[in-house]
Amino acid sequence: MPDVTYLNAHWYDSHEVLMLAYVKTDRNDKNRQSFHCAWCGIFITDSGQLFRINGADSHSFVNPSGVQCNFRTFHHCENVIVHHDLYFEHSWFSGFGWRFLMCARCLHHLGWKYDRGNEHMDIHGFFGVLQEAVESVSADDGT
Ligand SMILES: [Zn+2]
Repeated sequence: MPDVTYLNAHWYDSHEVLMLAYVKTDRNDKNRQSFHCAWCGIFITDSGQLFRINGADSHSFVNPSGVQCNFRTFHHCENVIVHHDLYFEHSWFSGFGWRFLMCARCLHHLGWKYDRGNEHMDIHGFFGVLQEAVESVSADDGT
């Protein structure tokens, strides 16, 4: 990667810092995980799409039925169906409404799509994917 070497050498004077930057990049690539539907195995999203809101990309709430919901938030999902009904009742994210999110192949419930409540909000929307609804596969195994 000659272009990257040049860029890093330009930004960092120290050779030691340059090497640390390389190690960090490699480790991130190996940690990249893809998430697949736990029931049918179709690809849903990957860890590069993780999205932090309220300071975290991992969330845990109890819904009005008393069910513990552990989920992670993502910028983007594929192979999903988003229900057109938008609900603002019991939303866990202030200003955002939610829609049911289902797997496009097997129609299992995966979580929720969150959409902004008005057009002046900076964040348009994001996905909340239940941890038990997906299986993670490391990027190395998937290729
Ligand atoms: Zn599925």
